[in-house]
Amino acid sequence: MTTRPVRPALWWRYEADKIRCLLCPHACLLETGNVGLCGVRHHKSPTGLVSLTDRTFLSLAVDPVEKKPLYHWRPGTRILSLGTGGCNLSCPFCQNHELALWRGSPPGEEITPEQVAEETEKEKLRAVAFTYNEPIVWYEFILDAARELRSRGIAVVMVTNGQISLAPAALLAPLIDAANVDLKAFSEDGYQRLGGHLKPTLDFIETLLGQHCHVEVTHLLVPGLSEEGEFRQLVHWIASLDRAVPLHITRYFPRHLWHAPPTDIERMKRFAAIAKEELQRVYLGNLQKQEKTRCLHCGHDIVVREEYNVVAMELDTLGKCLRCGTQSDVIVV
Ligand code: SF4
Repeated sequence: MTTRPVRPALWWRYEADKIRCLLCPHACLLETGNVGLCGVRHHKSPTGLVSLTDRTFLSLAVDPVEKKPLYHWRPGTRILSLGTGGCNLSCPFCQNHELALWRGSPPGEEITPEQVAEETEKEKLRAVAFTYNEPIVWYEFILDAARELRSRGIAVVMVTNGQISLAPAALLAPLIDAANVDLKAFSEDGYQRLGGHLKPTLDFIETLLGQHCHVEVTHLLVPGLSEEGEFRQLVHWIASLDRAVPLHITRYFPRHLWHAPPTDIERMKRFAAIAKEELQRVYLGNLQKQEKTRCLHCGHDIVVREEYNVVAMELDTLGKCLRCGTQSDVIVV
């Protein structure tokens, strides 16, 4: 571990003596000394805009890839997962609010992109996920780390809310191998309740798919927020891009400022039935039950999961069904 330097941020400009951050749709206009809505990008005079979290992590673990959740990408493997502080949304039901609400420079030691790669190799892993807080507001570090990881043949995963502007997204997306994108609502009203905007997340999903990144989408079913008509539109939009994009409908539990009881399971099943009218792969999450992926040709159970563990996999090394030989939509290498 080494001493942390101040990291100049990317994607900003001066407007008179203020700074406009252009990384995400908030486009914060910051006076000297101010920090953006994400809590971790700071107008530091005379340097300019700086990232306060560069090379600093607050959480690091080795997780099953199913926990991200990714169900159709390297099932049964483990992934180095790390995150820091800060987020550019303000969801009242945030499941990770201790990290998301972080303001300023986190304490702790520094980690360099090379050290992330070395840690991954030491654990004999083949992928790193940027997760726990919102990785978009850790942009510069992820860009550096992704380049280092890719140069060593290590894959890069993001678990993200997709609230990013088009130009920074275009630079980042080619470095991402797989992503789970939270699509929290399907209306501008819905996103405004969470402190964000709908279109940037839709744009980011399209950008990632356009770069042949493996994308799965998560929708947290929050009582009092998610409603059926809007959910139908969400499903229809995903299907219009690609019916094969997996959709995870996950169960909400009371957290942070939202105290409604956990999502009713019958309601989750009803939403899943709606999604299955248009999408090939629909999963229920946070239910602690078995989830199966069936071969689309012969119906054989090709992946069986219990919580985050894969308990059976009936695919060959190319991802073909062991019973009928049909190529599946599960990426195994
Ligand atoms: S990344 Fe942070 S500082 Fe920049 S516009 Fe978004 S919320 Fe504001």
